[in-house]
Amino acid sequence: MSKEDQFKSSVGVIGAGIQGICISLNLVKKGFKVTIIDKEDPGKKSASYGNAGHFSPYASVPINRPDILADVPAMLLNSNGPLALKWNYVPKMIPWFLKFIKSCSTKNMMHTAKYMHQILDLALPAYDELFKEIDVSGLVESKGILYFWNNKNLKSRELEIKIRNELGVKQQLLTPHEIHDLEPNIKKIYHGGAFYSNAKHAKNPKKILLKLFDLFIKKGGKFAKENVQSISFTPENKPTIQTDSMSYNFDKVVIACGAFSKKFTDQADEKIPLDTERGYHVHFKGYDHLLSRPVIFLNKGFGITPMEQGLRVVGTVEFGGLKNPPSKKRILNLVNNAKYLLPELKEHQDEWLGFRPTLPDFLPVLGASKNHKNLFYSFGHHHLGWTLGAISGKIISGIIAGENTNLDLSAYKSQRFG
Ligand SMILES: Cc1cc2nc3c(=O)[nH]c(=O)nc-3n(C[C@H](O)[C@H](O)[C@H](O)COP(=O)(O)OP(=O)(O)OC[C@H]3O[C@@H](n4cnc5c(N)ncnc54)[C@H](O)[C@@H]3O)c2cc1C
Repeated sequence: MSKEDQFKSSVGVIGAGIQGICISLNLVKKGFKVTIIDKEDPGKKSASYGNAGHFSPYASVPINRPDILADVPAMLLNSNGPLALKWNYVPKMIPWFLKFIKSCSTKNMMHTAKYMHQILDLALPAYDELFKEIDVSGLVESKGILYFWNNKNLKSRELEIKIRNELGVKQQLLTPHEIHDLEPNIKKIYHGGAFYSNAKHAKNPKKILLKLFDLFIKKGGKFAKENVQSISFTPENKPTIQTDSMSYNFDKVVIACGAFSKKFTDQADEKIPLDTERGYHVHFKGYDHLLSRPVIFLNKGFGITPMEQGLRVVGTVEFGGLKNPPSKKRILNLVNNAKYLLPELKEHQDEWLGFRPTLPDFLPVLGASKNHKNLFYSFGHHHLGWTLGAISGKIISGIIAGENTNLDLSAYKSQRFG
């Protein structure tokens, strides 16, 4: 597409999370006329606001893997474990679970790992490009991320280490002594660990999001605070977005509303099995001196990130859909786990529930719709959507501009679900 054509082309992007904002920023830079539509102000309470802030380029080992299947029943029975269900949602999720089980073969696990690695490897350089234009000093820390575990489920740890080695991911295995040297305040419940020295973390994801959004507006982008109801198409296949009060016509539309995207892909007649893994955070204010970097206790499936708001304790995978209320029990579990690791902690604040957008094969959907050539998707980045914001923005804007991305994008197509 020539630059002149791009100036004439209008793009509507539904969703002002990290995906929608990075896509939109890349598109305005290429000369498109872009409007972001979101029902909330950017970063108000979305997943892109409340995540753990990890930039995790190493995290290519997926959750769909053979060892997980054997562990799930025990995890569900343990009310202090990392996994939980809202029982009223189980019937709705059965098709997703069946597809997930199919994705847990060694072959499918390696397929996901390979294609997650492809984009994770480019994730930080893509952010570096965007960060050249905004001031992130004090907002991004480069102190690595520390994982540790006890001597249970060691086969799973061995598998993770092996896959990362095969993919060429930089990792340093640690002894308990070395873990203590890095983070001396953590109770010594660990028997081993791994350090990812090239990982980074955000001190305040919302502030970074808003800086990228402000740059988008400064470059001529538009924002409409509207609740999108539907997408339809003219006989020429041009998309129309209907909100509660307005109708917008665009040349192209991108769906980037994270876990809320399924409503619109259903309207586009695609059967994409997107669901959500609910997760929580709480803050402990005034304890920043206890940690230097994000830590993750793998056996309990939670982590703690030092942020501007205090220590952000983040975790839980809860299957319960988008409408169920938050679970007090899961929040309490998170709080107790944090106090177990850092016994000095007392009162917590700011309980938050967020929605990870997750497909059963743990790959995102990136690219054009199967049914509509002017409709594009960028959602389903599950636990890694913060890390993958800038690279997804680069890929989707490149596809819309008709550029060659030099990547094998076949694995991310929505067509994989038939
Ligand atoms: C507890 C937790 C911890 C996490 N930790 C990390 C981490 O450390 N590192 C990492 O890489 N990833 C992490 N993630 C994942 C990451 O946060 C998400 O994958 C990512 O933020 C998704 O971004 P998004 O832009 O696709 O969606 P979102 O951030 O959810 O944004 C979607 C937007 O769409 C809007 N929207 C929805 N429906 C409509 C509608 N009808 N009309 C208009 N607007 C609409 C919403 O208001 C929202 O602003 C975590 C997630 C959770 C829940």
